[in-house]
Amino acid sequence: MQNSLEEINSANIRITGIKINYLYICERKLWFFDRGIQMEKTSDKVLLGKLTEEYSYPQQEHKEVLIDNLINIDIVEEDKIREIKYSNKMKEADRIQLLYYLYYLKKKLNIERKGIINYPKMRRKEEVILTEEAEKEVESAIFKVAEVIKMNKPPCFIKKPFCTKCAYYELCLG
Ligand code: SF4
Repeated sequence: MQNSLEEINSANIRITGIKINYLYICERKLWFFDRGIQMEKTSDKVLLGKLTEEYSYPQQEHKEVLIDNLINIDIVEEDKIREIKYSNKMKEADRIQLLYYLYYLKKKLNIERKGIINYPKMRRKEEVILTEEAEKEVESAIFKVAEVIKMNKPPCFIKKPFCTKCAYYELCLG
C-alpha cells in the first residue's frame, strides 16, 4: 500500500516542511506561499530566525541538511534532528513541521530519529516523537496541504490575532 508521501508525489505535488508549518498557521498564507508569493523571505522575523540559528549553534557540525529539495533540517545529529526557532508563539506549527521531517525520514529513507525543537531565546526545548498517532496527524496534514494548494482561489480572509505581523497582511487587506 502506498504511504501518503508516495500518493502525493505521484500526483506531482511538492509538500515542503514550510508548507506543513503554514497549514497550522493560516491556510490562506499557505496558498500565497505556494503560488510563489514569498514575502516572508525578506521579513525581519525570518532574518531574526536565521540569526538565532546561526549564533545559537555556531559549532554544530551537521547544519542545514536539505533532503530531496523538500525538507530542510536545521541540525542532524546521530540520534536526533533539531529545529531552531526564534519564538515559540507558533509552537503547534513548529511541532507538525518537525513531525513531518521525522515522518519523511522514516517513510522515504528508513531512518528513525527523535526530534527536538530549541527555542534559544527562551532557553526552552521541546521533544517531538513520531508516535503512531502523530503519523496519522502528519498524513492528514499532508492531504490537507495538497487540498489547499489545489484550490483555484486563496482560502477566505479570516482575521487572526497575528495577522498584523504577517508578511502577507497588506496583500490580504487589498
Ligand atoms: S494576514 Fe492573516 S489571513 Fe492573511 S495570510 Fe497572513 S495570517 Fe493569513
